[in-house]
Amino acid sequence: MRTASVAVIGGGIIGASVAYHLARRGWRDVLLLDRSRTPGEGSTGKATGGFRAQYATPINVQLSLISRDKLRCFQEETGYDPGYLQAGYLWLASSQGELDVLRAAQLVQHRHGLAEATEVSPDDIGRLTPAVRLDEVIGGTFCPTDGFIRPLNLLEGYLAAAHRLGVVSEWQVKVTGLSRSPDGRVSSVQTSRGTVQVAAVVNAAGPWAAEVATWAGEDLPVTALRRQVAVTVPSEILPATMPMTIFASDGFHLRVRDGRILLLWPTPGVPGRPFDTRVDDDWIQAVVAKARQRVPKVGGLAIDRAACWAGLYEVSPDKHAILGPAPACPNLFFVNGCSGHGVMHAPALGQLLAELMSDGAAATLDVAPLRPTRFAEGRLNPVSELL
Ligand SMILES: Cc1cc2nc3c(=O)[nH]c(=O)nc-3n(C[C@H](O)[C@H](O)[C@H](O)COP(=O)(O)OP(=O)(O)OC[C@H]3O[C@@H](n4cnc5c(N)ncnc54)[C@H](O)[C@@H]3O)c2cc1C
Repeated sequence: MRTASVAVIGGGIIGASVAYHLARRGWRDVLLLDRSRTPGEGSTGKATGGFRAQYATPINVQLSLISRDKLRCFQEETGYDPGYLQAGYLWLASSQGELDVLRAAQLVQHRHGLAEATEVSPDDIGRLTPAVRLDEVIGGTFCPTDGFIRPLNLLEGYLAAAHRLGVVSEWQVKVTGLSRSPDGRVSSVQTSRGTVQVAAVVNAAGPWAAEVATWAGEDLPVTALRRQVAVTVPSEILPATMPMTIFASDGFHLRVRDGRILLLWPTPGVPGRPFDTRVDDDWIQAVVAKARQRVPKVGGLAIDRAACWAGLYEVSPDKHAILGPAPACPNLFFVNGCSGHGVMHAPALGQLLAELMSDGAAATLDVAPLRPTRFAEGRLNPVSELL
């Protein structure tokens, strides 16, 4: 029978980062399996490429700061440009309550090393994004080192660097089951190309991770949630360096990417069909109406219907990642549930999981807030993230 030291299920940005970091720590015979034809067909290829450290909990701020350090040396490390553009993230408040939430988050950010995040007045906002109508805006927060990254460059970079260190990745291989030995450990992985005997397994299956966990009898609370993106026709009315601009009231946000403007607004998804990734015409109309009201220049642009897309977030109950060994299966490792932050946190999470699997604990950061057992313990992280 074929063998591997560790099988990584899923070759999106999370699986690629984990495989690379394991190999860098000396793991040999790392096998990465993905059912897609080519890399990037899962959520990673659907991400818009935002990067921020402006979060509301210490662990999310810290994950971003670790990732940010790693983005700065990514090219040197992998040979690929992560496309890190420090255009900033600008959060806009339309009520005192929203401003209080942003201020509370900023206190957490300052306490955990994000000194450059500041509160901004309507005048500052007018200078940062002159296109935004200010009549409903009373203030906001801004961080100049937030901005943008290129999800597929990161994915390709980690895969290429992993391959150089001996990782084998196989595409069009569907994983269909896991077998456990009497002591509860996973002993083998069943795939569409046969069985692989393994010493450990990493579940990096993105929005599909809950199914993988059930094969080991584990209940992993990760659900898929559709996110739609409306794309304008090519336009130069806004600069590429405009910050990601987010209305705290309802999560409507916009950015410029490759000469087009992307409009986003989170909605609950298709009832009863969590994996449905159709783009609704009604949703496009609604998001354009928001743009027209808040950024009139943009609202007047035509939408390129064929360029609009939708993908899946992989959401955990407290919107924080789930990292560590499965509660009843010590050699099955979860790195799931990033809740829409998986590209930006993948550099940190890959490193932290490699530390955990190699040494029994992560040395770079205390990852206890992300432990898989927190749900059964009833000790969730506060769900305070606005997006
Ligand atoms: C519209 C949109 C915008 C987003 N914007 C951002 C953003 O700005 N910044 C950010 O950080 N994040 C963003 N995200 C979230 C981000 O895309 C995800 O958090 C991230 O890509 C998750 O990576 P992953 O590797 O876990 O999942 P994926 O990329 O989905 O990879 C999982 C892989 O597992 C494979 N797989 C699943 N089951 C099996 C099986 N049984 N056998 C074999 N292979 C299997 C799949 O084929 C897939 O390739 C966005 C997401 C969407 C949808």
